[in-house]
Amino acid sequence: MKSTSPVWHPFTQHAVQPEATLIARGEGAWLETADGRRIFDAISSWWVVTHGHRHPHIVRAIKDQADRLDQVIFAGFTHAPAEQLARRLVAITPPELDYVFFSDSGSTSVEVALKMALGFWRHRGENRSRILALQDAYHGDTIGGMSVGERGVFNAPYDPLLFQVDRLPFPSADHEQATLDALQTACRNGGVAALIAEPLILGAGGMLIYPPWVLAEMKRICQAHGVLFIADEVMTGWGRTGTLFACEQAGITPDIACYSKGLTGGSLPLAVTLCRADIFDAHYSTDRTRTFFHSSSYTANPIACAAALANLEIWDTEPVMERITRLASWHATRLDRFRDDRRFKNVRQIGTIAALDVVAGDAGYMANIGPSLHQSFRERGLLVRPLGNTIYLMPPYCSSEADLDLVYDAIGEIADGIG
Ligand SMILES: *Cc1c(COP(=O)(O)O)cnc(C)c1O
Repeated sequence: MKSTSPVWHPFTQHAVQPEATLIARGEGAWLETADGRRIFDAISSWWVVTHGHRHPHIVRAIKDQADRLDQVIFAGFTHAPAEQLARRLVAITPPELDYVFFSDSGSTSVEVALKMALGFWRHRGENRSRILALQDAYHGDTIGGMSVGERGVFNAPYDPLLFQVDRLPFPSADHEQATLDALQTACRNGGVAALIAEPLILGAGGMLIYPPWVLAEMKRICQAHGVLFIADEVMTGWGRTGTLFACEQAGITPDIACYSKGLTGGSLPLAVTLCRADIFDAHYSTDRTRTFFHSSSYTANPIACAAALANLEIWDTEPVMERITRLASWHATRLDRFRDDRRFKNVRQIGTIAALDVVAGDAGYMANIGPSLHQSFRERGLLVRPLGNTIYLMPPYCSSEADLDLVYDAIGEIADGIG
C-alpha cells in the first residue's frame, strides 16, 4: 500500500520496502522511535556518527554558534569557526595538504576534488583530463561521483550523462599486481589527470578491503607519472579504519583528499577537500579566468564548522583512539565464530568496520536476501542495512560490548533462520 507521506526517501524502493520508522530521539549509540522502542545504531546512521548521537560537547557548540552567527556568504567574507577549523585540519591531516575548500557533502567534496585536478592541469597548460578509478568504487551520487563510481543498476538510467573513466581492477587478495600493472599502463598511455580511490576499504561497493602496501604503491606509481592522487576518505576518515585517516597506514600524502561523514561527529552536513599548495597555486593568478569556479550556497556554514571544531576537541580531550582500539578488538573476537561457518564467507575487518557475506542464493547489492536481512535486524531492534548479501557493522565508537553482542547474536540467529 502506498504511504500517505509525501517524502521520497533515498535508496528506498517504496513499492516493496516497509514504511519508514519514525525516529524521535537519539542518544549515544541508540535511537528511539516515536512510540518508545529503542534501536541500536549499528551503522552509525549511514557511517556519519562517530562519538554517538547528541554528544553534549557538539550540541553545546551548535547552540553557542547559533546564538552568534548562523550563516554568512563565504566569498569575500569569512568567520572564526571556518578559519580555526581549516588551520586545525591542515595540522592533523597528512603533511603538505595545505589548503582547505569547504562544501556540504561527501559527493560535493569529490566533485570539488575532480574540478581541482582538471583545473590544475589546464592552468598548467598540460593536456591531461582522463580520470582513473577502481572497480567497485563508490564516490557519491552526483554526476561526477557516479561517473567515477562503479557502473551498474544504481546509475544505468543516467549513463548518458556520465563521463568516461579508465577503470582499474580492484586489488583483491593475490591479484594486487594486476591493479598496479593496469595503473602503470594507464599512466604510460598519457593524458591522465588523476586517480581517485577510497583508501584501504571500498565502502558502498561491498566493504572490500585491500592492504596499505597497495595504497602506497598506487600513490608511488601516480607520483612517478605526475598523476594526481585523490584520496576519498569520506567514509574512511575520522578513525573508521583504526587510524585517524586511512592514508596514515600507508604513510602517504595524497595530492587531494576528501573528508566528510564524521567531520562534524555526524551532527551536521559539512565536507572539505584539502589539497597541496601547487594545486592552489595553479589557480592563483591575476588572470581572473583562473578562479576556482565552485561554490555552494552554504559553503562553510558557521554552525556546521563549529560542530566540526567541537568534534576535533573531542578527539583531543577524550580517549577516542582507545575506544576505537577496544571496538576493533571486540569485533575481532566476535567475528571469529563465523570464520569456519559455511553459511558465511569473506569474514573481514578493518578497524571499527566488520563485514561478512551471507552464502545464500545470489550475491551483490541486488541479492534477493538483502531486504529480508534488513527486515530481520529491524525486528530485533537493530539498525543494520546489508549491502545485498554483505552484512557489515560500523557502530559509533561509544558502543558497548553488550551492544555488539546484541548484533552479533542476531547475525547468528538470522543465519539459523536462513538454514
Ligand atoms: C558516502 C560516501 C560519499 C558520498 O558522501 P555523501 O555525503 O553521501 O554525498 C563519497 N565517497 C565515499 C567513499 C562515501 O562513502
